[in-house]
Amino acid sequence: DTAPNSWEARAESSSFYGFTDLPSIKARGTVVLTHGEGPYVIDTEGRRYLDSNSGLWNMVAGFDHAGLAAAAKAQYDRFPGYHAFFGRMSDQTVMLSEKLIEVSPYDRGRVFYTNSGSEANDTLVKMLWFLARAEDQPQRRKILTRKNAYHGVTAVSASMTGKPYNELFGLPLPDFIHLTCPHYWREGQPGETEAQFTARMAAELEEVIAREGAETIAGFFAEPVMGAGGVIPPSAGYFQAIQPILKKHGIPLISDEVICGFGRTGAVWGCETYDFVPDAIISSKALTAGYFPMGAVILGPELADRLHAASEAVEEFPHGFTASGHPVGCAIALKAIDVILNEGLLDNVRRLTPRFEEGMTRLAENPNIGEFRGKGLMGALEAVADKPTRTPFPSNLSVSERIANTCTDHGLICRPLGQSIVLCPPFILTEPQMDEMFEKLEAALTEVFAGLKA
Ligand code: PLP
Repeated sequence: DTAPNSWEARAESSSFYGFTDLPSIKARGTVVLTHGEGPYVIDTEGRRYLDSNSGLWNMVAGFDHAGLAAAAKAQYDRFPGYHAFFGRMSDQTVMLSEKLIEVSPYDRGRVFYTNSGSEANDTLVKMLWFLARAEDQPQRRKILTRKNAYHGVTAVSASMTGKPYNELFGLPLPDFIHLTCPHYWREGQPGETEAQFTARMAAELEEVIAREGAETIAGFFAEPVMGAGGVIPPSAGYFQAIQPILKKHGIPLISDEVICGFGRTGAVWGCETYDFVPDAIISSKALTAGYFPMGAVILGPELADRLHAASEAVEEFPHGFTASGHPVGCAIALKAIDVILNEGLLDNVRRLTPRFEEGMTRLAENPNIGEFRGKGLMGALEAVADKPTRTPFPSNLSVSERIANTCTDHGLICRPLGQSIVLCPPFILTEPQMDEMFEKLEAALTEVFAGLKA
């Protein structure tokens, strides 16, 4: 229905820029949603879609969790908003900070709140720059990240993001350096073992530090599993190889857990899954199960102590948002953490992971799927024109978009990222729903690959 007053037409002509201008979406039309049920979202025509992306990786408790809505309502009724400035903050803010330290790898630390993951990365970069100046090392400004990393959209977090589209903004800003993406399957050289590849990633880090000067580097940020880069787990032993190098040079390692945090990889934190303790953690998304926009910077003891000393010596870190530590967001986060950790969601991720891996591995037997990669309940299938040589399809064929659009037509939402199809279902998924997800995706893969050969 493209009548001028249809929902779809209204969405197209809406002044809000909601990524409705992409050619692949234009070709199919915008889906306008009214509500959700468990892992399903429902559109204005009553069509149901299994959302295998949990919204944008965040709606881990599904779309109609009564407990989360009730926690929001109770807090709106009790104390609907406050800030966290000038020595005043809500009780919920205090309780959430205590909870975040309790579930973090740290026995003590400090928490800062933002409205998003991007702002949390920005906040921590500014904090590292503030520390450098307070400690008489103003040259310590450089931030190391990796190509393909995704850290957000603000000017600083976009500079951290290792995606070519940031060149459209003249980014990165000076002082942001991108290392090789530790994706063995794509970046490994002929004949190179995974262990040799990891050693090469570590050697590259050493070289970059030597070239730039350790005293100029403020921090190294990494997602445990790259998410928006196309679900890329690190090569084996990666964090064990790079962390000692960073430690030796006094460079903090920051784990951007915006996607991995709170259960996605089968542990509370991605760093737990990959067995390293970072100097700070960036959290968002599942932190509130997507029921409130919120991010958090969780500092470990060392950075917390340095910040305390800088605040004493210079002044308090002059930074914060109006809605930092919003009581409703904090109340929802407290409930979300409880739901994930104590009401079986994390257990369900662990229980479902073998079935997820089996299903993905089976789909990867398709001659046009080059690789399944993933961890816990996040995974990607990479489409290839030729499997033995790993040759991608020409990008003008938009293969992953075609697959995702075909899935949408069949009532499954999944995300095209580069040449990959990404799945990261809500943690509440049941076995039959997982089977439905794979059946629909398999049908779409068969249809699209057959169409390309015809
Ligand atoms: N960091 C990571 C790892 C992310 O995946 C994202 C968003 O997807 C961000 C940061 C940015 O978060 P936000 O979109 O809330 O600003």
